[in-house]
Amino acid sequence: MAQGTRLIFLGPPGAGKGTQAQVLAADCKIPHISTGEILRQAISDKTVLGIKAKGFVDKGELVPDNLILDLIRERLKQADAADGWILDGFPRNVSQAEFLGVLLNELEQSCDFAINLEVSDDVLIDRLLGRGRKDDNRSTIARRLEVYHEQTAPVIHFYESQDALKSVDGDRPMDEVTEALKACLVN
Ligand code: AMP
Repeated sequence: MAQGTRLIFLGPPGAGKGTQAQVLAADCKIPHISTGEILRQAISDKTVLGIKAKGFVDKGELVPDNLILDLIRERLKQADAADGWILDGFPRNVSQAEFLGVLLNELEQSCDFAINLEVSDDVLIDRLLGRGRKDDNRSTIARRLEVYHEQTAPVIHFYESQDALKSVDGDRPMDEVTEALKACLVN
């Protein structure tokens, strides 16, 4: 594992993407880019983006692509992202995945592969209820899982069809998942 690693983390809300992405990014000395984190910061700072995004995030809906695509383009152009990155929470639908392909071409970068962190819905609901984030109440969780199955799960097939997908069982103790992810990166 080294700089130069470019990975997309896929998986349902609560799968542990954020935690694992953070560990691997620190290990590889590359930025962990979480669109959810960027949006939560924008909402708390009451920026134009935050004000536009708030209603969608609070309801568990995806923020419209036009808000997200500019954000990811600007983030990937920053100097610290030149030598690698881990994307967490993006792409969230097939049109975002197509956009990312075009953007990476433009930036003359290529993504190594996408990793799908697999966890069943029952486990996810328990984990999300225990997490206590503002958008982690029962009705928002249900909607986020629905949105995941409708819009984000097809992204798995998108990368699978490009032969660029690896899957890891995320329903295990955190350290075991980290080890499995590291093994994925060297194989
Ligand atoms: P996350 O932290 O990845 O679970 O994201 C929290 C919320 O931010 C999601 O429920 C969406 O409302 C919004 N969000 C994050 N990433 C995206 C994205 N790529 N496209 C649209 N909405 C997003």
